[in-house]
Amino acid sequence: MIDFTGKASFKGIAIGRIAEMKKNQAVVRKTHIEDADAEFQRYLAAKEMAQAEIMDLHDKALKEVGEAQAEIFEVHAMFLDDFDDSVENIIREQMLNAEYAVQTTAENTAAMLAAMDDNPYMQARQTDVKDVADRVIRDMNGGSGDGNNFTEHMILVADDLAPSETVQLDKDMVLAFVTREGSTNSHTAILARTMNIPALCQTPVTRDVDGKMGIVDGFTGTLYVDPDEATLEKYQELAEKEEEKQRLLKELKGQETVTKSGRKIKLYANIGGIGDMNFVMENDAAGIGLFRSEFLYLQSSDFPTEEEQFKAYRTVAEMMAGKEVVIRTLDIGADKQIDYFNLEHEENPALGYRAVRICLTQEEIFRTQLRALYRASAFGNICIMIPMITSVWEVEKAKQIMEEVKADLAAHNVPFKDVPVGIMIETPAAVLIADDLAELVDFFSIGTNDLTQYTLAIDRQNQKLERFFNAHHPAVLKAIQMTIDAGHRHNTWVGICGELGADPTLTETFVRMGIDELSMSPSSILPVRKIIREMD
Ligand code: PEP
Ligand code: MG
Repeated sequence: MIDFTGKASFKGIAIGRIAEMKKNQAVVRKTHIEDADAEFQRYLAAKEMAQAEIMDLHDKALKEVGEAQAEIFEVHAMFLDDFDDSVENIIREQMLNAEYAVQTTAENTAAMLAAMDDNPYMQARQTDVKDVADRVIRDMNGGSGDGNNFTEHMILVADDLAPSETVQLDKDMVLAFVTREGSTNSHTAILARTMNIPALCQTPVTRDVDGKMGIVDGFTGTLYVDPDEATLEKYQELAEKEEEKQRLLKELKGQETVTKSGRKIKLYANIGGIGDMNFVMENDAAGIGLFRSEFLYLQSSDFPTEEEQFKAYRTVAEMMAGKEVVIRTLDIGADKQIDYFNLEHEENPALGYRAVRICLTQEEIFRTQLRALYRASAFGNICIMIPMITSVWEVEKAKQIMEEVKADLAAHNVPFKDVPVGIMIETPAAVLIADDLAELVDFFSIGTNDLTQYTLAIDRQNQKLERFFNAHHPAVLKAIQMTIDAGHRHNTWVGICGELGADPTLTETFVRMGIDELSMSPSSILPVRKIIREMD
């Protein structure tokens, strides 16, 4: 038995025979041509074929793995459109063949993407550019298809996999992906996650594994080749347990969160940063309902810069590919203390200087974050959410600062979107004036952790009080109902992003109360979706 370790981009266990992926990459020669017009026409004809193929792949992906993953093929079409000028230039100016012009153009584009150190998403698009170029070149030479037709279930090993190759595969036959290159950020990794298939990348697998037995452990990132009896037995047991879990996932992934009578609920994920995005994809969240931005501050030894924050927000917005991403502005203080903020010792930190109270007092911190958020808004569907609101003036002041930030960005021609603004409802005061607050904002998200703490006057951190801390308390449930009703009177959608939102014993209650969105840790999404889909 030999084992190879790489980076796991999707968890799971797979046991089966290994198949090495056969690539049909075109070999491109550089030749001089006589008729530049005819050569460019030859390119245009191949490009048209390639475009049609890309659209077919887009439609196939749309059907099989959903809109977010299908979008990569729109990116392919866009890359292809951008080839024209450079290809024409090489053909006409250097009198060189179209295949060479396409390959050179793709290499130049890939080099430009490789240099984008500040944008890992675009950096990972290098393989996509090369894949598009290979397709056009293949089409210029009569098109040789993408096919790897497997007749038995197998663990697919490859140097790297382009999304078009992954989509082409008969997924029922693939047990796992193992690539020698690639990144956990690549669309192939994302596709693999969507397909619920274990995937390893950057795994230094030797070239002699084709046809051998293998085990992929997506938890540890290991590929075992020719496993011994004991290892095989251990993994067979693990795989059975995993299969049970995966059954639930497979049944519910890609399905709408809708009751039998047709009421749709937005089932979103709570995250603390980019590191959680794996789980978001894995569990098919329809959006991000709470990005706790303070984790960026907690992980840092000094205030994160505008640029650092911008990158994090933009990456999440891009990864969610047009789905809503609700980013909460800084919520530190109370249980989340950070040395470099130099907050004074307080007798009652939970009732003290925290969250929006810090933002409205130390405005520069708030403005830096807002600039990063608005800049990132140009890259996806971001919503901004303010925590710990108790008064109308706080919302008005925060919105005034937002207007100033936007005006400044506009004056400097920095692109941004006029994003929806919402607030957290997590204090009894906010519940009681919810009608007034709803007039000022686009959405409410109920923070049941703090709402329970403040409604019941019980410190959520105090272990001794655990038996008194009852998030199901009728007062908390009544506060939730009041918030939903007030929101709906003013066309403001209402969600829950506190832990209670994931409580399966309350899912039906919340839906009947009229909740529009539930945001929770990703692993709770599919079980809650199941409950909602079974409701009348
Ligand atoms: C809440 O209070 O319910 C909430 C979601 O915010 P946090 O737990 O981060 O305070
Ligand atoms: Mg809170």
